[in-house]
Amino acid sequence: MKKRLLCALLALSLLTLPGCKRDPEPVEVTAFAMDTVIQLTAYDGNTGGTRAFLGELTARLAELDSQLSATREDSFVYAVNHAGGEWVEVPDSTVFALLHDALSLCETTGGALDITAYPAVKAWGFTGEEHRVPSPAELETLAEKIDYTAVALSDWAGERHRGGAALPQGMEMDLGAVAKGFAGDLLAGEVRDVGITSALLDLGQSTIVAVGSKPQGTPWRIGVVDPARPGSYFAVVELEDCAMGTSGGYQRYFEQDGITYWHILDPDTAAPARSGLVSVTVVSPCALTCDGLSTALFVMGLEDGAQFWQDHPELDFEVIFVTETGEIYRTAGLEGRFSLAEGYEDREVKVLE
Ligand code: ADP
Ligand code: MG
Repeated sequence: MKKRLLCALLALSLLTLPGCKRDPEPVEVTAFAMDTVIQLTAYDGNTGGTRAFLGELTARLAELDSQLSATREDSFVYAVNHAGGEWVEVPDSTVFALLHDALSLCETTGGALDITAYPAVKAWGFTGEEHRVPSPAELETLAEKIDYTAVALSDWAGERHRGGAALPQGMEMDLGAVAKGFAGDLLAGEVRDVGITSALLDLGQSTIVAVGSKPQGTPWRIGVVDPARPGSYFAVVELEDCAMGTSGGYQRYFEQDGITYWHILDPDTAAPARSGLVSVTVVSPCALTCDGLSTALFVMGLEDGAQFWQDHPELDFEVIFVTETGEIYRTAGLEGRFSLAEGYEDREVKVLE
């Protein structure tokens, strides 16, 4: 009896020792939106309230998704794509901000990111199950139709004058390359606004936003997928109030006659981007930057991508490139935040200065 009491006291004292402080329980909510599984995790004392709050965030995501989906017939994007060149009213300031920011990234990347690539995405069958390889002539016609500068977006002048968007007949847009990043920033803002200081927002395997640090105060450690073995991570990046996004040829692709065709297209050719890269990971406080630039740098390739990084310090981002031959490059700003994962310690990492 005495022994048991002693054990209980000992256990209690261990729990209350400063070094043994218990972390708050994680509150996790999973949802399906934007064509992917979304997982929101927050560490906060108020478990019940936090769960309800995260539930509200997933509802917000679903609402945004319903406006942005290129396949849902009641979405804003679908309406623009099928308006025959007529103006379509922008539903709210959030959708307006996304379109505005996406177009600005298209411009900054010189059209490597182009939200009007959708007719080509469809022609390759990346919107459904049936993939196909369009003929060279078809690709030429498709490439002519990709041109983000033809998207008309009028100014947002408040709820009463929402402004509109329009596309020339025959062109179609899709915000798939940037929507998850935009949503990540939006949700992270809401999480911070309610005072949560430790959360991880995973918007599908490719975009992740860290709010604050882990409950113990150390950075989140996020793995970077090995494109050659998508089940494992070749590197770990430490994130604190920071986002990370990866675009990889291994994420969505099909094979035909021994050739792999992936879902990231070069707007100049309307065909899968063959830049010599198999994955691009972007790290930035802005998740939209991570999402949009990972796609754009994949199209640009290593040399132009590295140049773009040097030319745009104002975008505040760092990059990890993996080439088709398995070479790893990272930018200098990741010093202290990047490490090779277990089993990959002997891989060479070239640093871009
Ligand atoms: P994921 O959506 O799988 O995370 P990305 O963010 O790289 O991957 O976006 C790729 C998606 O964006 C494609 O599925 C396609 O719909 C669209 N897309 C493909 N190439 C481009 C491009 N060069 N610019 C803009 N959107 C693109
Ligand atoms: Mg992207």
